[in-house]
Amino acid sequence: MNSNGNTKFLDRTRSLRGNFKRRNGHDIGLERVRKEVTKAMGKPCRYCGVHLTLDNLGLDHVVSKEDGGNHTWDNLQFICKQCNGTKGSFSHEPFVALLEIAEQYGVRDKLISRLRAANLMFGGR
Ligand SMILES: [Zn+2]
Repeated sequence: MNSNGNTKFLDRTRSLRGNFKRRNGHDIGLERVRKEVTKAMGKPCRYCGVHLTLDNLGLDHVVSKEDGGNHTWDNLQFICKQCNGTKGSFSHEPFVALLEIAEQYGVRDKLISRLRAANLMFGGR
């Protein structure tokens, strides 16, 4: 990693930790964020398959806060920002089920754009 890449990594992981803390009132730890980001980079987003990078990754609750999910790493995952914005406050299982049903009815893209718009409007997550 060159020095620019390293600076970007340091900044991005710092802001991931800060944003999480602000949003959830819980400190997931800078060193741990850096370790987990390093592991996640280059892997595919579990929902759309896009390769995760410093620019596109987002930190997500597998079981959402609304559904009682906690802030520990066994309930956190990195997915792409796009899918994070679509998934909003859905937990993993119902989100996947919803996408599958929408797929069967040929309205997957429509559902995704509606969910994304709603989450942008209401700040759901
Ligand atoms: Zn994705």
